[in-house]
Amino acid sequence: MQMLSTRGAGAVSPSAAILRGLAPDGGLYVPARFPHFTPEEISALAPLSYPQRALAVLSKFLPDFSRDELTQALQGAYGTGFDCKAVAPLVPVGTRAHALELWHGPTLAFKDMALQLLPRLLTLSARKNGEEREIFILVATSGDTGKAALEGFLDVPGTRCCVFYPREGVSQAQRLQMITTGGNNTHVIAVNGNFDDAQSGVKRIFSDPEFAAQLDAQGRVLSSANSINFGRLVPQVVYYFSAYADLLAEGRISMGGQVNFCVPTGNFGDILAADYARKAGLPVGRLICASNENHVLTDLINTGVYDIEGRPFYKTITPSMDILISSNLERLLFDLSGCDGRRIAEWMSSLANRRRYEIGAEMLRALQARYFADYVSQEDVLGEIARTWREDGYLMDTHTAVASAVLRRYEEQTGDTRPGVIVSTASPYKFGASVLRAIAGEAACTGLDDFACCRALSERTGTPVPGQIAALPSLPVRHRAVCGRDAMEQAVLDALKG
Ligand SMILES: *Cc1c(COP(=O)(O)O)cnc(C)c1O
Repeated sequence: MQMLSTRGAGAVSPSAAILRGLAPDGGLYVPARFPHFTPEEISALAPLSYPQRALAVLSKFLPDFSRDELTQALQGAYGTGFDCKAVAPLVPVGTRAHALELWHGPTLAFKDMALQLLPRLLTLSARKNGEEREIFILVATSGDTGKAALEGFLDVPGTRCCVFYPREGVSQAQRLQMITTGGNNTHVIAVNGNFDDAQSGVKRIFSDPEFAAQLDAQGRVLSSANSINFGRLVPQVVYYFSAYADLLAEGRISMGGQVNFCVPTGNFGDILAADYARKAGLPVGRLICASNENHVLTDLINTGVYDIEGRPFYKTITPSMDILISSNLERLLFDLSGCDGRRIAEWMSSLANRRRYEIGAEMLRALQARYFADYVSQEDVLGEIARTWREDGYLMDTHTAVASAVLRRYEEQTGDTRPGVIVSTASPYKFGASVLRAIAGEAACTGLDDFACCRALSERTGTPVPGQIAALPSLPVRHRAVCGRDAMEQAVLDALKG
């Protein structure tokens, strides 16, 4: 299986695509042809463990990795770091739906599903492609990705990870999660600025040849752990197969029966992985794209126009979905266009220059045949958490609640009775203050910090505070560096001198 760039550049192997991250023409790597799973192969997943299911799926998507290499990488990724044996359990939400819980890893959000495996795939890819330099991962984070990347790369030989976060832009718990990270190959630096400053600074560093030369002289090469990297996307395909296998194992569906997935969406990586599972033969019905007030994707899927000109940016209680430029959408458009790299390059340049593009009636029809999209307000999110807790006894985080509310609406509007799976992307305790506010009211949170909110939430619901959160206030702080938004390069070099 070869990988193509969405903007037309020639084919490379999966391991080369993972090592490079972005294609040389600025496009994203996608499979030139998708592997296919027969109904018998999918049925055979039902009795298997998560790492075994992952091996079956990944060995078809990553043919230049041996079964032994993948087996070892999967054991390392999904072994002890997850707090439940199922890794990604499928849990009933009353009788109306199932939640696919993707937050049982070390940082309590779904980014762990990919970032526990990516470092292992990256070091294997380096070896396969004759890359001997240390791989230096640079990340700008608005909260969740930074900690997941730090945990994933922690003490992985041949790698080093440096995270920039906006000094005022992350929650108390998120900041503590990052600055208490141990290991001998991690760096965490606060930027005096917002997330956009951190992100633009990282992009500048990536495009600076002088910086690359300095790193090279130190025996290091820059790479990315962003969801533009195919190595982050492909581990996410696995859990859609796994959810289907669980429904089969429990007798909730028979082989061939279709399942709808509702996904709380930001950068479009998670939902695209479901589409890739469908292209590889998984019986997926509708993909339901759930958004918050920053609903640029809802508008695209309903009107065919992607337009961010003059669009307000809202900071919401679902911060991981506060995004206006969804990078992975480019992969879907490439697929819908019949792999027309020239058209994609035109749209992306229109987005950069005129802040909008239009996909036309024919592609819109193809898009709507696969996808349904809607968005909900923050009031709806709080109401959904409260209602699901009251009626179904299921406690969900704010991002998951966006999907839960949109799935309800979808089923009411369409009468679709196929089984629905809510993709659950974070532990309720990762956003404990908002969840407490939803089920106990504003007054219950007054004067409490994030940790006190989590304790109050635990008392009220009889659910335990996860160990990773409870331990945070007593962990030693290991990273204190701060830099100005124009001094990020120097800060990296200083950190590397250590
Ligand atoms: C990253 C994230 C999302 C959005 O996922 P995308 O792949 O960017 O669409 C949703 N919820 C949580 C909790 C996240 O961390």
